[in-house]
Amino acid sequence: MPGERSRSLYEEALGLFPGGVNSPVRAAVKPYPFYVSRAEGPYIYTVDGERLIDYVLAYGPLFLGHRHPRVLEAVREQLEKGWLYGTPTELEVALAKKILRYYHPGGMVRFVNTGTEATMTAIRLARGYTGRKYIVKFNGCYHGAHDSVLVGAGSAAAEYGVPTSLGVPEEVARLTLVARYNDLESVERIMRQYGDQVAAIIVEPVAGNAGVIPPKPGFLKGLRELADRYGALLIMDEVITGFRLGLGGAQEYYGVRGDLTTLGKIVGGGFPIGVVAGPREIMEKLTPSGRVFNAGTFNAHPVTMAAGLATIEVLETGEPYRVAREAASRLVKALEDLISRYSVKATVNHVENMFQVFFVDGDVSSPEDAARSNRELYARLHEELLRRGVFIAPSQMEAVFTSAAHTREVVDETIEALEEAFKRLGEQ
Ligand code: PMP
Repeated sequence: MPGERSRSLYEEALGLFPGGVNSPVRAAVKPYPFYVSRAEGPYIYTVDGERLIDYVLAYGPLFLGHRHPRVLEAVREQLEKGWLYGTPTELEVALAKKILRYYHPGGMVRFVNTGTEATMTAIRLARGYTGRKYIVKFNGCYHGAHDSVLVGAGSAAAEYGVPTSLGVPEEVARLTLVARYNDLESVERIMRQYGDQVAAIIVEPVAGNAGVIPPKPGFLKGLRELADRYGALLIMDEVITGFRLGLGGAQEYYGVRGDLTTLGKIVGGGFPIGVVAGPREIMEKLTPSGRVFNAGTFNAHPVTMAAGLATIEVLETGEPYRVAREAASRLVKALEDLISRYSVKATVNHVENMFQVFFVDGDVSSPEDAARSNRELYARLHEELLRRGVFIAPSQMEAVFTSAAHTREVVDETIEALEEAFKRLGEQ
C-alpha cells in the first residue's frame, strides 16, 4: 500500500495540480496514489520502498515491460546524437515503413505525439476528404481528450451526442452522433438518417476504455459495410490494440480493415506518440501536400522513433506475444476458478493479452453492461491486490494488460495474491 513518502508527496501535489495529478485516472488509486521512483521488467518500485507487479503498464504502451534493454540501448544511442532537430530523420522513414507494412501497405503515415492528436487529426482528415461534417462514435469508447470525442449518448431517443465535459460547446457535440457499441442496428438507424453527411465512423475495435469488450462476430464487418454503403470513412482507433493483438493489431486479428488507422502507446515504445495511417489518396490531403492542417514541433521525435523501432523489432520475433498471451490466459483461468469457488457474481472478458473482470450478473457485451457492474467490489479487489504487491488498473473501466515481462514465475506470484484477495473479499 502507498506509504508515508507517497502520502506527503500527494499532499503537496494537491496544492500544485488539479486533483493532485496530471491525468485523472492516476487519482483513482486510493487512498492516495503511490509515487514511483523506478521500474524494471514487470515491476515498478515506489518511493515507499515497495515492489509492485505491474499490470497497468502505463495504460498500455509497455508491451515489452519496463526498461527493456533493446529499447534502452536504442534510446541511449539516439540521445548521444542529440534528441530533437526539427528536421526529418532516417528513423522516421524506417518506422513508417514498418507501420505501413502491417496496417496500410502502399499507404502513408503522419506522426504526432499522442493518441488524442491522432484521432483529432484523423477526424479532421476524414472531414476534409469527404467534405462532410458529422462523425459517428460509440458510447463508452474513448478516443482522447479533444472536443469532438468528449461526447456520450444523449437520451435514448436522441442520436446527437451530449458533451461529457464542461467546456465542449453543444454545437460541437451535436456534430458527433453516438451509437451503441456491438449494436449494428443503432448505427444503421443513424446512417439511414444522416448517412450522406457522415464523414467517418470511429471505433475502438475492442472497447478498451470500458473494461475490455470484444466486438461481437459481424460487428466490425457490419461497420465496414455501412461505411462503404454511405461513403463514410471507417477509422479504426487502434491506440490500445495496435501492435498488441499482434503486429497487425485488431484489423488483422478480426480481418476487417479501416480506411484510416490511429495508433499510439506501444508503437512509441513508451515515449509520446500518435500515428495516423491510411491510403495515399486520403493521407495526401494533409498539409503540406493537402489543405487539412496538421503540424507539431515534436512530431516524429527522434527518441520516440528509435524506441518505437526497437520495440517493433523485438515484437517481430513473436516471443513477446507468446509470453503475454500465456500470462493472460493463466490469470483469466485463475480468476474464473476463484469466481466459481467463491460463487461471486462476476464475469471475465478476455482478448489475447488484455482482460478485465466485471462484478455483474451475466455477460458484458457493451459499455452499458460494464457500467452496471459493481465498481465498489472492483475497487476492493484492486486494493487487496495492491496490499499484496500487485497493481491492476484502479478503474473498472480500464483494461488489465500483460506483457513480455510477465513470465511464469511472475504470474504464479500474482495468482497467489489473487487467491488471498478473493478470500478476503469473500470474508467481508
Ligand atoms: N484512443 C484510445 C482507444 C485510447 O485508449 C486512448 C488513451 N487511453 C486515446 C485514444 C488517447 O491517447 P492519449 O492518451 O495518448 O492521448
